[in-house]
Amino acid sequence: MFSLKNIVRKNIWNLKPYSSARDEFKGRADVFLDANENPFGTLNRYPDPHQKEIKQKLSTIKKVATNQIFVGNGSDEVIDLAFRIFCEPGKDKVLTFSPTYGMYDVSAGINNIELIKQPLINDFQINLNQLQPYLDFEDVKIIFICTPNNPTGNNLNTDDVEYILENFNGIVIVDEAYIDFSSQASFIKNINKYNNLIVSQTFSKAWGLAGVRTGVAYASEEIINLYNRVKPPYNVSTLNQKAVLNSLDNLEEVTKNIETILLERTKLKEALSELPIVKKIYPTDANFLLVEVDNANKAYQYLIDEKVIVRNRNTQVDNCIRITVGTPEENKRLIKTLQKVK
Ligand code: PMP
Repeated sequence: MFSLKNIVRKNIWNLKPYSSARDEFKGRADVFLDANENPFGTLNRYPDPHQKEIKQKLSTIKKVATNQIFVGNGSDEVIDLAFRIFCEPGKDKVLTFSPTYGMYDVSAGINNIELIKQPLINDFQINLNQLQPYLDFEDVKIIFICTPNNPTGNNLNTDDVEYILENFNGIVIVDEAYIDFSSQASFIKNINKYNNLIVSQTFSKAWGLAGVRTGVAYASEEIINLYNRVKPPYNVSTLNQKAVLNSLDNLEEVTKNIETILLERTKLKEALSELPIVKKIYPTDANFLLVEVDNANKAYQYLIDEKVIVRNRNTQVDNCIRITVGTPEENKRLIKTLQKVK
């Protein structure tokens, strides 16, 4: 049986959270002399520590309650705080499916948590047989599932994710950084069904706001309360909140850009498939393509020399480079440059 109290770090369960000036007085007033702010200027006041406006808008769009939403300083903060809430340093473990997003490993290292890597198989799907024994390990506190997966680009099978949610008594973080480019539905609809589920999304990809640093976690109210207890009081700046709100008011533009990127993804795939150095293009549901070439190190270096930068993923998947879908011009330049690689 999943019990939140059993898997939360004791010190976090018992933590008395910081109470900010804005927590202690929430009403309207004329004179605020309670937060040691400077009375002059335009950004002199602390931001809303609970990002209420953003949560209200997200609540409507995503069809979840506002108290099932946590807004973080990038989804990297969503990941890092999960370690701090659930994992006892030097004792607990987390599990990932490799190859995947590198920050799970780094965050585990920072928090002194052992990370177990299960290789993805058959075009990068979860091997449930191999995973099975770990589902009962009491010191495995979190399983990270990145879907669509970075750097491979594919969706993980929904049935496998549901199987893990149903059979693992720890937390399952479904990282949906690339979900808006995917043909698969988000797991957000399941947060009321599974009380061990955290769905992580970000404004950095489809929303075009990587510079803004805002990520979101969707989960049960109980889990979101834990996030609110451990987060720094003013973790999302006024400027960040404004930029996100602006985007949430311009959904049409976001949708249009996603459509353009998806169209460009198809074109890029076609153009790449005609290049002699390209051996395989993996199926993708994200805004990037994992491409196997003759010699990834050579192609990567050649592109750098020509001032076109892709990601060399050779150490994760043999002879693969990961190419983000750019503007039509950028994609044309990439193809032109790759045509010249000997
Ligand atoms: N998850 C995945 C799978 C990612 O690829 C990234 C960034 N590349 C992140 C999370 C972090 O995104 P951010 O902190 O910008 O929200």
